[in-house]
Amino acid sequence: MEYVKNITELVGNTPLVKINSITKNIESTILAKLESYNPGHSIKDRIGIQMIKDAEEKKLLKKGGVIIESTSGNTGMGLALAAIKKGYKMIVTMPDKMSIEKIDILKAMGVKVIITPTNVTADNPQSYYSVAKRLSIEIKNSFYVNQYDNLANRKTHYKTTGPEIWRQTDGKITHLIAGVGTGGTITGCAMFLKEKNSNIQIWGIDTYGSVYKKFHETGVFDKDEIYSYTTEGIGEDIIPKNVDFKLIDLFEKVTDKDAAIMTRRLAKEEGILAGNSCGAAMAGLMQLKDKLKKNDIAVIIMPDHGSRYLGKVYNDSWMKKQNFI
Ligand code: PMP
Repeated sequence: MEYVKNITELVGNTPLVKINSITKNIESTILAKLESYNPGHSIKDRIGIQMIKDAEEKKLLKKGGVIIESTSGNTGMGLALAAIKKGYKMIVTMPDKMSIEKIDILKAMGVKVIITPTNVTADNPQSYYSVAKRLSIEIKNSFYVNQYDNLANRKTHYKTTGPEIWRQTDGKITHLIAGVGTGGTITGCAMFLKEKNSNIQIWGIDTYGSVYKKFHETGVFDKDEIYSYTTEGIGEDIIPKNVDFKLIDLFEKVTDKDAAIMTRRLAKEEGILAGNSCGAAMAGLMQLKDKLKKNDIAVIIMPDHGSRYLGKVYNDSWMKKQNFI
């Protein structure tokens, strides 16, 4: 018989697929790593399982405990897989801009979801970070995962995603392109890949409304760069400990509109029903295409599945309301 003992054993080893139509005028090879192939349909399954294991080993999480996290949705799902397997309760805080699909999916997995306002600063007591922190103090036997500063996040990608990309490209990868939220994906992969070959270029995709690009280029944390945007999962108004700016060669900003339009093109032209930040990463690579040479092999991380955005990017009324179409 051929079966795995638990759903969590299906996490990782996601496929690489060549992008053809969108990149038809580019001579280099562009490959997408489809993280929607994880059982929770996103890259965050990887860190959900690892951060819980790490907390148990450090005795921060005990039997019957409550897992608390602030999330744009996907990390909640990854954590829920681990919580279900191990019998923990779970509470997540989510900003109100996140898609209804993400909220309902978490509820379906038995997670208590607390919605917080998007348009408040990170240090406001109502922000999703502050509410999660407060709950973790108030609730006995609880553990605040904190994917932003918890270094088990980037370690997971150092141990899994990075080595997979190296093996799948036969060590020939020249560029890695990834959206930057907590920074765990890009930093963990970069740590592994640059150890193997320090010439590999690491390009971070940022959004308008986020502090990353300016901070990387000038060292200035500019509050004026912060405003709300529709792209989900990337860009930040804080500097998480998981980002190692030294390992990122450049940041490229993509507009909400360009990210949304490119997300739709991935579905229509490539048959890849991808999430919003996948479109952002693809659009970012297209903005940078003149930096690529003929024999380059670029890998773009595609963090999640389009089913999470049916009411947004894939909905004509929503797209018109945003003036994207
Ligand atoms: N895309 C989506 C849809 C995400 O949920 C996240 C995580 N916030 C990212 C990209 C960015 O990944 P990371 O947090 O590892 O930087």
